[in-house]
Amino acid sequence: MKQLIKLYKQMADLTAPECATTCRCPHSCCDRMYCDEARSWSDKKWHVDLSPLYIEGQRLPFMRKGGCVVEPHLRPTCTVHTCAINGFGVKPNDPKWTKKYFRLRSRIDALDFEDAYPDMNGAYEHDEVEIL
Ligand code: SF4
Ligand code: SF4
Repeated sequence: MKQLIKLYKQMADLTAPECATTCRCPHSCCDRMYCDEARSWSDKKWHVDLSPLYIEGQRLPFMRKGGCVVEPHLRPTCTVHTCAINGFGVKPNDPKWTKKYFRLRSRIDALDFEDAYPDMNGAYEHDEVEIL
């Protein structure tokens, strides 16, 4: 689990600057629906109660001036999201970044799978992603 937390943190370190430096409308992809998803996921998978951080009545309950207050592994959908990956499937003109992204994502997926299906350890196979 520690490894998974570390990988999500690395993913956040990779994706957050994309938003910080390229976004024309910061946090426009955020939605209360994803905050609620993060809250139930945290509780279900990690047994972490995010209620103390959840501001009822605020459009984005976990958003503050400095950004989202939820740790990266507790909001996986948000952590792996960037406009480029969502729109193009790659970061255009940056194969190095894209390769790093999919390497991390692949390792995260494998650990998430092993955690969800402990009896099937080793059953999750993934190919190295080739970036052209
Ligand atoms: S994912 Fe896109 S819309 Fe959301 S903050 Fe990043 S750049 Fe902005
Ligand atoms: S990044 Fe944070 S504020 Fe934005 S949708 Fe996800 S949980 Fe909510």
